[in-house]
Amino acid sequence: MSDNKDLATLAIHAGDHADAFGAAVAPLYDTTTFSFANTEDLLDVVEGRHHGPLYTRYGMNPSITSLEKRLAELDAAEAALAYASGMAAISSLCLAYGRGGIICVGHIYGGTNTFLQDLAPTLGIKTQFVDANDHNQLEKALKKGASLVFLETPSNPTLQVIDIARVASITHYYQAKLAVDNTFATPVNQQPLALGADFSIQSATKYLGGHSDLTAGVVSGKAKALSMLNAWRKSLGQTIAAETAHKLKRSLVTLPLRVGKHNQNALTIAEFLQQHPKVEKVYYPGLKTSPDHPLASQQMQGFGGMLSFDVKGGDAAARQVIDNFKLIKLAPSLGGAETLATQPITTSHYGLPEALLNSAGISGAMIRLSVGLESETDITEDLDQALLSKI
Ligand SMILES: *Cc1c(COP(=O)(O)O)cnc(C)c1O
Repeated sequence: MSDNKDLATLAIHAGDHADAFGAAVAPLYDTTTFSFANTEDLLDVVEGRHHGPLYTRYGMNPSITSLEKRLAELDAAEAALAYASGMAAISSLCLAYGRGGIICVGHIYGGTNTFLQDLAPTLGIKTQFVDANDHNQLEKALKKGASLVFLETPSNPTLQVIDIARVASITHYYQAKLAVDNTFATPVNQQPLALGADFSIQSATKYLGGHSDLTAGVVSGKAKALSMLNAWRKSLGQTIAAETAHKLKRSLVTLPLRVGKHNQNALTIAEFLQQHPKVEKVYYPGLKTSPDHPLASQQMQGFGGMLSFDVKGGDAAARQVIDNFKLIKLAPSLGGAETLATQPITTSHYGLPEALLNSAGISGAMIRLSVGLESETDITEDLDQALLSKI
């Protein structure tokens, strides 16, 4: 596939490979190993002269390699590696590239935070945390020493947008590498590598999978950088299962279609909530009134399906609204076809100190929505009745 193809086409055709029967869609290679006619053929694969299948944990299984080709093309990357989960991808990358120190810019996913705050330091990996758009803080941290800078944009749950190109140029000046968690945006809405990042990471459990029925992760970037990462994946045994790879490749077919509709629904819902008398504030970079809108318009092709809002009446009111939902489900996770709601203080940010929540701009009044693919009218009606029937 050439790189001037549209994402809609790449999502369907990239990574296609013919089989002996001319199957229109490659079958699942539900096998742990592959056999060879003779030792010479086996050594050709083992010694890298021929990129054939070999052993599934190595990722050398056509169901995995064809998925990775598709994922790489969607990110306009040289290569991609598929993992058993988003956290497998993130932890592997941190171990492979973060041993010189990791700087985290802005708010990050709870699991990544736990890994960087509590676990990585026990291995002697120094981690630093700096504010999202304070470049002086970032430079100071880089001067102290780091080999990897990690950020997430838009962030969870306040949908804060970080300038990827700017952070990339500062990071590279200090000879570190930049990894961007692109889970919320997906390659349809944002291309971190084109903006200067070295690695684009996603929890494929979310929009890439898109149906809340698989757990997987992906890292894309330069082929050479990924071959070192692959050694870690192989040794830690974090490779995606062949069955999951096959399912994920199928999900990618509709990724551009789905994300387009998520974008459209979320904007409609954000506009609806913004004028609602029971709503205090809406966080969505697609709103023209959002302070993040100018930067988001510059680096994103769409604004995504995630939004948050504060209801009037605080914590108790937010809980009541959530408990009043009829269509919208109360569940963590995101990126599926169904609209999901959470109150961050009871899920992703549960038990965090008050001061930390305040500085992150998260209160009990906040509800996060993963806007699904249902009809916009049905989602708005459910929000409206839940907001109005409180108290
Ligand atoms: C869910 C999520 C992860 C972790 O992904 P898993 O597949 O659950 O391991 C990482 N980053 C972000 C932004 C996420 O939403």
